[in-house]
Parts: sequence; structure tokens; C-alpha cells
Amino acid sequence: MSTARSIPHLPLAHLPTPLEPLPRLSAALGGPRIWVKRDDASGLAFGGNKARKLEYLLADARQQHADVVLTVGATQSNHCRQTAAAAAKIGMECELLLEHRFPDWPDDYRSGGNRQLDGLLGATVIDCENGTDMDAAMEARAEVLREQGRRPYLIPMGGSSVVGSLGYRTAAVELLRQADDAGFEPREIIHATSSGGTQAGLLAGIALRRREVPVLGVSAGAPAEYLGPVVAGLVAGVFDYIGVDRSVPDQDVVVDDRFVGEAYGMPTVAMHEAVSLCAREEGLLLDPVYTGKAMAGLIERVSNGRYDPTDHVVFVHTGGTPALFAYR
Ligand SMILES: *Cc1c(COP(=O)(O)O)cnc(C)c1O
Repeated sequence: MSTARSIPHLPLAHLPTPLEPLPRLSAALGGPRIWVKRDDASGLAFGGNKARKLEYLLADARQQHADVVLTVGATQSNHCRQTAAAAAKIGMECELLLEHRFPDWPDDYRSGGNRQLDGLLGATVIDCENGTDMDAAMEARAEVLREQGRRPYLIPMGGSSVVGSLGYRTAAVELLRQADDAGFEPREIIHATSSGGTQAGLLAGIALRRREVPVLGVSAGAPAEYLGPVVAGLVAGVFDYIGVDRSVPDQDVVVDDRFVGEAYGMPTVAMHEAVSLCAREEGLLLDPVYTGKAMAGLIERVSNGRYDPTDHVVFVHTGGTPALFAYR
């Protein structure tokens, strides 16, 4: 791919991830042809969408001569788990600041799943109370490290800086090529969205290829009126960073926040149904926080007759499966 500047990149993930048909799910729903882009199989300690972002983020950290990487997330953050794995893989220290929003939830949630893996992967975990200003906490910790002569590299929540979003620009190109090879044009790409980098990267990559494939982000937490502008800002940031004069119209940034339920991380009935259906029909494991809610969104669109039977719809499986063990 020709770009106006050379972009630091480290190969950390298992790429390309497969694009697979889900014929039994399509039949069970009586819907369009549903495909899954298996970014849950991207490597880095059980996979997920943060692997692609970390290929750019940690390359940037290296280029800036960082010696410790800091990031933030919730107790069961997939992003933190994959950051710990990526840092271990390149031999960099890693500190994770975890906000414990549900301190009263069972042990499985507080110390199992992703949280268990953070420790195993050698990261230092700093526990923060519910309601902590996590960006401020990370900046304060970075200042302490700087005073000790260290060179911290700070990654925002979900890895959704402009640099992190670059990972999904290349994912979009990869996905479009696989769909071309399989002989179809996606009618829509659907995925779980939360900090916005995945959606921004996908939209940027599609626009760079001059294709017109709609992308729907199903929110795992944030309201659409907040997240839409965040995604649009990151898209503009990506074009700016790579030095191309391109834009994505605001109306192409579509976020559906109707599947969140009570709050981020709180189970919903539709999520349970979606997770069970995919497990039983396809042997495909979704997660309770992100992909289960996003699949509930896809199922609703199918039930509402939004697609023709001949349409091809692509669900991006963004990972998160270790959280299944935290939500018994
Ligand atoms: C982080 C995450 C998302 C959301 O991706 P963003 O780029 O933060 O919007 C979706 N699914 C899973 C499993 C995640 O861990």
C-alpha cells in the first residue's frame, strides 16, 4: 500500500484472520448470508481486535524509545490483556490501571477471565475505584515514572488513538480482499464499538479503497451521540496521519446504542440469546460484553427484514472470549 509517510509497524498478530461463512446461523435466522471475520483468532493471548491496534501502538512506542507501556481499562478489559501480551512479546514492561466498576460482583469477575491473564502475562496492575478519572490516573502514574527516569508510552482506553486505529484501516483492506476472493460485496459490516478506533479504521480503510460498504457499530456502552463524533474525529485523524486528502461523510458514521442494556458490561437477555445461538448453531463463541450485544443487533436487523436473502452481511468478531469465564 502506498502512503505518504512510512508508518512504524510490528508484526504481532496472526494475520490475515479467516473470513468464514455461518450457514447454520443464516438458516436459523432465515436471513441473509452471514459471514464472520475471525478477529477473535488474531493471536496475542486469546485474540481480539486490540492485536491489530497494538501492532501500530507498540511500534510507535519503540520508535519513541519507550521502556514501559501504560494503559487503562475496566476490570475485564480485553485491551489491557492484549496489551500485556504484546508488551511481553517485545520485552517491554507493562502497567495496567484497572477501574473496578462492579466491586461487588463474584470472584470470577474480579479475579478470573482477563484479570487472571493480566497477572500471568507479567503486567503490573494498579487497581482503581469505580468513578476514577482514568486518564488523569494514568498521567499521574506516568509522571511518577518520568521522575524516576523512565520513558512511559501511554495508550488511551481501548487503544483508540489515531495510531491504534491504523490497525483497522489495514483490516478493512484485508476483509474487502477476502470478500472479493469469495465473490461478494458486503451489504453491511457489523461490529461491536466502544472506544471507536475499530469503526474509525474500518471506515477509513473502506474509503481509501474507494468502496461503498456500510459499517454499523453496535455500542457496548457509550451513547451514539457521544461515540459518533469520536469515531468521525478518529477517521479524520487517520487520513491526516497518513497524509491523504480524503473524508468520510458524517452520515456514514453509524452507531446503534440500543443494545447496551443497563450499562457497559451488564448482561442483557438479547445478548444471552445471541451468545447461545452462535455457540449451538456454529460452535462459535462470542463474549458477554461486546460481541454478544453486537450480534443481538445483527439478529434484530435480520428480524426486521432489513436484508434480502441474497445479501452478504459480515460480522466482525472482535474477540473478548476470555470474559466468558468471568461471567458464569
Ligand atoms: C475493545 C473491544 C471492542 C470495541 O472496539 P473499539 O475499537 O474500542 O471501539 C469490541 N469488541 C471487543 C471484544 C473489545 O475488546
